[in-house]
Amino acid sequence: MIIAKLYYSQPWLRELDTRITSQREVEGKYLVVLAETIFYPTGGGQPHDLGTINGIPILDVFEEDGTVFHVLPEPLEGSSAHGVLDWPRRLDHMQQHSGQHLLSAIFQDEYGYRTESFHLGAEYCSIDITTPDLTRQEQLAAEARANELILEDLPVFTYTLQPEEFGQVPLRKIPDLPGPLRIVEIQGFDYSPCSGTHVGKTGQIGLLKILKAERYKGMTRVYFLCGGRALEDYRRKHEICSELVALLAVPEGEVVERVSADLERRKELEKLVEELQGELLELRARELVSRSEGPFFLELPEASIPEAQRLARAVLNLTQALVVINLGERLVLAHNLPAGPNLGQLIKDQAQPLGGRGGGSPTAAQVYFPDPGRLQEFLGVLRQEIAGKS
Ligand SMILES: [Zn+2]
Repeated sequence: MIIAKLYYSQPWLRELDTRITSQREVEGKYLVVLAETIFYPTGGGQPHDLGTINGIPILDVFEEDGTVFHVLPEPLEGSSAHGVLDWPRRLDHMQQHSGQHLLSAIFQDEYGYRTESFHLGAEYCSIDITTPDLTRQEQLAAEARANELILEDLPVFTYTLQPEEFGQVPLRKIPDLPGPLRIVEIQGFDYSPCSGTHVGKTGQIGLLKILKAERYKGMTRVYFLCGGRALEDYRRKHEICSELVALLAVPEGEVVERVSADLERRKELEKLVEELQGELLELRARELVSRSEGPFFLELPEASIPEAQRLARAVLNLTQALVVINLGERLVLAHNLPAGPNLGQLIKDQAQPLGGRGGGSPTAAQVYFPDPGRLQEFLGVLRQEIAGKS
């Protein structure tokens, strides 16, 4: 059955009163067919419309053999249907899709880059064009040209061409399909076979902004936004920029310079902190060595592993001793005694049977205990081992 596709003939129609021609249940959902419809089904790179029928939200719209099915979560009563289109969503799709025609035509006409695919998603729109190297200059020029054509407010219209008429218009590509083609023409500028919905004049695209271009499978993927999406993107970016201006207390034009300078300053400060930490560790080591000959058993639950290792090295630079630093769940061990214990071996023989995980060389090692009781047990063993050696 062929039903009237009003989304083609009247793409600005937002409400519809019509008849329900069939309805059936499939896996708990209801597939409804109407005598005519304003709801666009997924196809041609464009997502399906949403909206309501008799107040019930539409979950999906798809087309099969020329019939448009509206998927509803519950059945419709009676035989008449009142459809209401989610207009902001449709207008958004028409703006992105029409902008894509414009941008693809510009890349092809000005640079010879064909469009191989088009993505219209909730998050972003993109086209893949046949060049591995789109220059920044080409990108900016294409964007400027697109916005010129939007300002020119060129009419956009559709018609059907029979195969024998294909030669009458400069089609970008002829699809490998038999039968007639639906052509979307941007007056005198672009002729593309397409099954989507489009604006009536290029001015309704409003604005086209290219966000970025990146290499993709030997081509370039160009990300762009049109109309309301571009405005929303501008609003969001302006908000971020305004917050930065307020936080940094500099004019907008100086934000990047200021952040770069602050990052540079941060690097210098981090280097300074590291130097001061080193000096502090050195002082701490001197204080420890001045008070005792070792072995040094230290409790530093707040310290990191690199800090503990640095402290141990600082102590061993000053004296011959064994250093054991307890970080809470982990021990860092080191010594420089000529006849000191083999730390790596000790961990293997004594700590691992207690559930300790770790190891090391004869003079430097570390071990982690999931159970703090076992860590204390190992410390006891270690003290005995040292007492026996001395
Ligand atoms: Zn299209």
